Amino acid sequence: MSLPNDEIELILSKILVMPCPFCGKLDISFQWGTEDREGTPVNVICESCGACGPNEYIDADKESDYVKIIYLWNKGNEEK
Ligand SMILES: [Zn+2]
Repeated sequence: MSLPNDEIELILSKILVMPCPFCGKLDISFQWGTEDREGTPVNVICESCGACGPNEYIDADKESDYVKIIYLWNKGNEEK
């Protein structure tokens, strides 16, 4: 399960996303794992260097759930 690119861009335009802590670029996408009973594991991935944010199980069809993934990514950056 994944979202079309235009929906991803819409989500990313609404939320403040921190640049990648490794390469400093803001070339962010999502990575979807295999859906199971708990939902779909999704994480942020840096398209530039391949760095990944933490995985979180979400409802992959629910736009608002992606906020959680971005939040984890941002939080991880602050701790660096
Ligand atoms: Zn990067």
